[in-house]
Amino acid sequence: MSHKPVYVTKPSLADLSEYMKILEGIWERGILTHNGPLVQEFEREVCSHFELPGFVAVSNGTIALQMAIKALGLKGEIITTPFTWIATVSAIKWEGCKPVFCDIDADTLNLDPSKLEDAITDQTSAIMPVHVFGNPCDVDEIERIAKKHQLKVIYDAAHAIGSVYKNRSLLRYGDISATSLHATKILNTAEGGGCVSNDPNLVQKLRRIRFFGHDHEKEIVEDGFNGKMTEIHAGLGLVNIKHFHSVLAERVRIYHTYINGLKEIKTIKFQKTAKNSTSNYAYFPLILESQEKIHELTAALENRNIYARRYFYPSVNRYRKVVDYQKTPIAESISDRILCLPSYSGLEDSTIKTIIEIVKEICCE
Ligand SMILES: *Cc1c(COP(=O)(O)O)cnc(C)c1O
Repeated sequence: MSHKPVYVTKPSLADLSEYMKILEGIWERGILTHNGPLVQEFEREVCSHFELPGFVAVSNGTIALQMAIKALGLKGEIITTPFTWIATVSAIKWEGCKPVFCDIDADTLNLDPSKLEDAITDQTSAIMPVHVFGNPCDVDEIERIAKKHQLKVIYDAAHAIGSVYKNRSLLRYGDISATSLHATKILNTAEGGGCVSNDPNLVQKLRRIRFFGHDHEKEIVEDGFNGKMTEIHAGLGLVNIKHFHSVLAERVRIYHTYINGLKEIKTIKFQKTAKNSTSNYAYFPLILESQEKIHELTAALENRNIYARRYFYPSVNRYRKVVDYQKTPIAESISDRILCLPSYSGLEDSTIKTIIEIVKEICCE
């Protein structure tokens, strides 16, 4: 094998020397956590970079989702998509609610709003769609339906930092957007996440929940827990966010390189972006004709030391240990036939070319 293994993604990291300077400051101050100066600075940077009204940095994206459910006081059923990472569903369950699955749109791969009303019952308290692979949901239509039925909306925006809808950050939509800053995400703090809300009262409530339910006087005024981000993680976020523009530009460039190389192949479908929407192209998914083709392609890539990932397989409605099965034919069919190709800063053009050749070999025969 001539090259090192190529994985589906690789964390984007600033120069170590930049991070070392931050670490020196932490050592001098001796403050490691508890809403320290770097966490506060990171929250301000995220707000200014993405023009957000309020950002509450937390320890991971799953906790961000749970805090959003807790802050909105949700009970009963929460409608979500089966085409997501398991964390969307585990957050709902850990907050004592029941996930109800609404099938997806075969083009955007996001929850299909035209099927939403069929899933609403008198137990429904909220809708939790996912901006899958950074592709914006139909946020206007979801908001219209939510208003009509008096439901809350939480977006699982784990993939969506840097995505745009109608010229504004996608994270501004919904009662709360919860994002992830995990190592595999487009902006990372190793582990981390955050909640975005336009409502200052909700932002304050999320801060209390993050800190055991304490208010400023250290009274317990809320049913909270520990969702705090540390100074070590916030510091990494501060150096990484400085390079976010170039990370995003790289993803867009890689996306176009793949598309140009593969668009003529009739047996491949790509994720479609709706109008007014700009994806961050954090992932590059391919939808093939059959599961057999996925196996063939995965094997051919692995032969060349390239490891694509089957995001998201299986669809989460089929995890029988976690949920009672509810049928969603489109999500199940797509989840069996989708593969994400490598896309990350530093992925070499020659590797992309090799990948395109392999895909052509398997899909054009
Ligand atoms: C990564 C991810 C999460 C969870 O984020 P963590 O920071 O890993 O806890 C939730 N939902 C989706 C769709 C994700 O991809």
